[in-house]
Amino acid sequence: LWMPFGIVISLLAAAFILRLLGRLQSPRYRLIDALHNRDLTINYQPVVELKSGRVIGAEALVRWPQPDGTWLSPDVFIPMAEQTGTINQLSAYVIERVFEEMSDWLRQHPDKHIAINLAAQDLSSTVLLERLTRLCAGASVATRQIVIEMTERSVVDPDITGPILTRYRQAGFRVSIDDFGTGYSSLSYLQELEVDILKIDKSFVMALERKQVTSHIIEIARTLKLEMVAEGVESPQQEAWLCRHGVQYGQGWHYSKALSAQAFMRWAEENLASREDETLLAPPHA
Ligand code: C2E
Ligand code: MG
Ligand code: MG
Ligand code: MG
Repeated sequence: LWMPFGIVISLLAAAFILRLLGRLQSPRYRLIDALHNRDLTINYQPVVELKSGRVIGAEALVRWPQPDGTWLSPDVFIPMAEQTGTINQLSAYVIERVFEEMSDWLRQHPDKHIAINLAAQDLSSTVLLERLTRLCAGASVATRQIVIEMTERSVVDPDITGPILTRYRQAGFRVSIDDFGTGYSSLSYLQELEVDILKIDKSFVMALERKQVTSHIIEIARTLKLEMVAEGVESPQQEAWLCRHGVQYGQGWHYSKALSAQAFMRWAEENLASREDETLLAPPHA
């Protein structure tokens, strides 16, 4: 009788160890581990004023470096973090890193901003709002220098998200709707939601055959008196077209890919110095 019992116990122990190892391998556990080890890095993509080419700020984009030297795209691990309930932890981490890396720069450039992407779950409470407010106060950064980006998809329940967005705006933060045109927002609730900026999704900027649709999106933003940022600007032709249609700001590989904090600050200094030269060289009242 004891022999089979011993076997069962060893089998159970083996199963337990295998499960534990499996858990350590699971993406959720690996992400939590990466957050604890501060493995995730933030890259900054410059946002420029289209007509002058002057940098007005940057968007913070999170990266997950892998042991083999590559990095995972947030398009892969953000949805996973949202499904497994790790997104709040991730967002808190991103915000903290942004302040560590960029608060000096923001203080030195009070007219510039950093845009941070938040997820739907981040906007179901005011926890992050309080954290951001504290970080701004602690670093002497004006709240208007922080833009929060949320996708249309995140506004699942405008009755909940709406009041929280209002709180963000009352605190001085600016709010941007990301990937605009790819979600399902009805025009009526766009009008109800208090936002400052519409970001035109790169799919509209890239696909020339959708120019009709893109002009309509621009028209909507203009009607609602919102600022516009075009994402995914890759060519001078796209830049010219957007400018002609009244889009003020843009970001994309035509200007720069997302850069490390250090590289971004160097890029911005060069950008500002070269624009200064241009204005100095320009004839007066031209
Ligand atoms: P997004 O907010 O729409 O960010 C723009 C994406 O377009 C970025 O991809 C950027 O690298 C890419 N991009 C920029 N310029 C160009 C261009 O000229 N051409 C092309 N083809 N692509 C361009 P990325 O960094 O892979 O981020 C993907 C998405 O992941 C972001 O889309 C955003 O929704 C999400 N994400 C990134 N960081 C965070 C974060 O910290 N928190 C949350 N919740 N989401 C994040
Ligand atoms: Mg974004
Ligand atoms: Mg976007
Ligand atoms: Mg996008």
